Amino acid sequence: MKKQATRILIATLVLGAALAATGQEAAPLVFEPLPYAYDALEPHIDAQTMEIHYARHHQAYYNNLVNAVTGTALEGQALEALFARASELPVAVRNNGGGHWNHTFFWQNMAPDAGGIPEGDLLAAIEAAFGSFADFQAKFEAAAMTRFGSGWAWLSVDAQGQLFVSSTPNQDNPLMNVVAERGTPILGLDVWEHAYYLKYQNLRGSYISAFWNVVNWPEVAARFSRATAPAE
Ligand code: MN
Repeated sequence: MKKQATRILIATLVLGAALAATGQEAAPLVFEPLPYAYDALEPHIDAQTMEIHYARHHQAYYNNLVNAVTGTALEGQALEALFARASELPVAVRNNGGGHWNHTFFWQNMAPDAGGIPEGDLLAAIEAAFGSFADFQAKFEAAAMTRFGSGWAWLSVDAQGQLFVSSTPNQDNPLMNVVAERGTPILGLDVWEHAYYLKYQNLRGSYISAFWNVVNWPEVAARFSRATAPAE
C-alpha cells in the first residue's frame, strides 16, 4: 500500500510539473447551479430524477474530485488539460473529473421548451457528415443504446473539423487520451441507469427518444462554432 501510494504521488508530481510547464492557467473547480428548475424538463426527464442526479450524483463527483486533487500538483489545473493526459491520472481524478465535467456539460446541452432540429452551419455540417438529421439521430441513438453498462453518447468535432458520433464507458469523454475516437464534444447524453431508471426503468430507448425534446440546439450550435473557429 505504502509503495503504491508513493508511486501515485510521484506520478502526480511529474504530471503536475508537466502541466505547469505548459503554462495552463489555474482553474478553480466550481459546482455550478443547475441552469433550470428540477421539474423544468418534465415530462421528458422527471423532477425526482433531476434532483437526485444533480444534487447527489453530480455533487458526489464534484466533492470526490476536490478531495482527489486538493493538496496535489493537480490542484488548479484545467480539467480539459488533465483529460489530454487521462492515461497518467490517478483513477479517482479520471473518474470524478470526468463525472464533474460531463454532467456540467450535459445540464447545459438541455433546456426547457427545446428540441426540434438545429439550424444554420450546424445543420449543414450534420447533413454533410451523416446524410440527414434523421440519419444523425439514428446513429446517435445506436451509440447510446449499444453502450453496454454505464457511459455516454457524444456528438463531437474531430481535429479536421468533421462531426462524428461515439460513445465512451463510465465517465470517460472524447477529450481524454484514453478513448478510441478523440475530439471536442458538442452534445452529450448520459446513459447511466441513474439518468433514467426512476421514470423509464429498463427502457433506455424510451429515455433516448425523450431526450430529443430537450436538446438545447442553440447551445450545441455555439459549441460547434467555437470548436470549428480558426485558431488565433
Ligand atoms: Mn449521470
